[in-house]
Amino acid sequence: MVAGALQMTVETRCFAGSILFFQQPGFHPTRVLFAEPEHFSTLESVLLVAAILASAALFFWRFGPILRNILRSKKDANFSLFPLGRRVWDFFWEVLCQGKVIRQRPLPGLAHAFVFWGFLAFALVSVNHFATGFGLGFLSPERLLGGLYFLFAAVWALLVAVSIAGLFVRRFFVRPIWLGKKVSYESGFIAFLIFLLMATYLAAYFVAPGSLQIKALWWTHTLALLIFLPLIPHTKHLHLVLSPLTVFLKRDGFSKIPPLAGDEDFGLVAGKDVTQLISLQTYSCVECGRCTEHCPAATTGKVLNPKEIILGLRTYLNEFGPASDTPLLTEQRIASPDNPPAKYLSMEAAFECTTCGSCEYQCPVGIQHVPIIVGLRRGATNTGAWEDDYGTKLFLALEKNGNALGLSATERDKFIQKQAFPIFDGTQEYCLWLGCMGGYDPKGREIIADFARVMQHLGTSFGVLKKEKCTGDPARRLGNDLVFQTLAEAGLKTFETAKVQKIVAICPHCVRTIATDWREFGIAPEIEHHSEFMARHKDRLPKQQGESIVYHDPCYLGRYQEIYDEPRAVVAQAGTLVEAPRSHERSFCCGAGGGLAFLGEEKGERVSHVRARELADTGAQVVGTACPFCNTMFRDALTAVSDTPPQLLDIAQLTARALPASQPQSSESQPPVSGGVQ
Ligand code: SF4
Ligand code: SF4
Repeated sequence: MVAGALQMTVETRCFAGSILFFQQPGFHPTRVLFAEPEHFSTLESVLLVAAILASAALFFWRFGPILRNILRSKKDANFSLFPLGRRVWDFFWEVLCQGKVIRQRPLPGLAHAFVFWGFLAFALVSVNHFATGFGLGFLSPERLLGGLYFLFAAVWALLVAVSIAGLFVRRFFVRPIWLGKKVSYESGFIAFLIFLLMATYLAAYFVAPGSLQIKALWWTHTLALLIFLPLIPHTKHLHLVLSPLTVFLKRDGFSKIPPLAGDEDFGLVAGKDVTQLISLQTYSCVECGRCTEHCPAATTGKVLNPKEIILGLRTYLNEFGPASDTPLLTEQRIASPDNPPAKYLSMEAAFECTTCGSCEYQCPVGIQHVPIIVGLRRGATNTGAWEDDYGTKLFLALEKNGNALGLSATERDKFIQKQAFPIFDGTQEYCLWLGCMGGYDPKGREIIADFARVMQHLGTSFGVLKKEKCTGDPARRLGNDLVFQTLAEAGLKTFETAKVQKIVAICPHCVRTIATDWREFGIAPEIEHHSEFMARHKDRLPKQQGESIVYHDPCYLGRYQEIYDEPRAVVAQAGTLVEAPRSHERSFCCGAGGGLAFLGEEKGERVSHVRARELADTGAQVVGTACPFCNTMFRDALTAVSDTPPQLLDIAQLTARALPASQPQSSESQPPVSGGVQ
């Protein structure tokens, strides 16, 4: 068959865009052409129309209800397509370049990218394929452009065939646990169909046009395509249709919590609260498990599994629809055959999230888990359904004392007096924001005191606020909008009254909340993290030698604010920087975020222990932190996981320890105060 085809191409066809295929002794220069059937009978045309209609009908039979669910979901409050630049860039990088997929899992990511790019290359070939069935083909293998395009597609066909075979082996033989325990036969069948599509395309180079073989190949290719099409909305391959849209439309800002839509909006309570973006995102999940693989809760034995939260929402929408009053969280539903609770969409799971953002960062199809999980928390907290002693205590502490540790404001006053911190009066350059940890927690106070020494060393004028309340970060992440709003508005007023222009803080949670979350109620003065401040002055900080320091990226500084280099620049001044196995964007959480620092003992293995072990195992002499919450979590964790734990110091302490002795007193002299995070 092959020889026949080659002979025919040499003798009968003129093709300027064909390639030199063999050039060996005994062979003449030989040209290879893509073959197509030359004629279709009326019966074949009728069969083709029927098959196309059946395939399209099966596609819309499933896709129609999905589209209806998305469109009938609640509109997203404050959604805007503008600015467009970020959306276009995300679409280009994440969808067209497959940048995120490749970066997170290079080998399977590249295989996936080849399949995707191959699909794009094949779009034109496929349209031409069906047009040929009706005698309307517009790409001719015998013309220069057509021939070249068929060859271009052939290269992609080879790459797709090899890639899909590799992905098949990974899914069915290597079987990474993140893909789930269940063997997905539908995925296997779809991989087979894709392989068949590529194989039948390539085989058309080795048969004669008008032959029986090319007719058989053409129909096999056609049927594979028409079977593949309706499978898309019935399987996770729905992401082929939806994910480009999901990436383009995702809410601006990393892990950004959207505003509520008015007084009647309490968050995600029932189906009627699910917004169009959330609906679109849940139907886009490709079930790759990247989110779960990197989730500190899921990997330490908690119920929370971000992938299952998304799939649970999808199951809910399929079962109850977007207008339903049935509660989303399983604890609030009655289990019956008509009302099946999705195991993972539970209150317990929602309140195990540290809001670290790893899931969202990893997701290749633009799903934003944190706003969804915080939305579920809002629904439970704002309606009073979440009953938790620690949570209640925390909210009361925030309301009564204005700080998360529940201590009297006079404790902060005493600390300020002891440190002889100047009160901000509008004449100083910076307002030094203490935060709950810096104002009340013993270790946080040490960090603040040492950072103040650094500022004094640099000759920067600063003052602290006479009265300061929590930013509302834990209330915000735990879904208590009333407490958060009260604190945010009070904070904005305080800054306005004190005429603050610039703020510096040691806590990334405070920086994020003031700079981003408060925007719902007003614009706060410019705020920066102390790592940024110190990095800007690094040439004037003492250069220290010797000690190895492993730096831990806090989630709220790294992933949330993309501040990676600045703290490293400070660490590099204080010793030799060592990188943890998981660092930068892939850093592993300390376990404190999302208000969890205040919620008592966690189930399963402690997140802080896992991270502390990883940091200690680097062999570094010091663990460097840049967040008082991380510092608190590692305080006990390092001792628990190592007999000879490394020293634990914030970047401000790493710097201050080398300052001239003539500077004001060391923070070590500070007496501890009662209270602290749980
Ligand atoms: S934000 Fe972090 S803890 Fe929460 S689900 Fe995502 S990965 Fe897990
Ligand atoms: S939510 Fe995103 S990362 Fe998680 S399984 Fe679905 S597609 Fe993958």
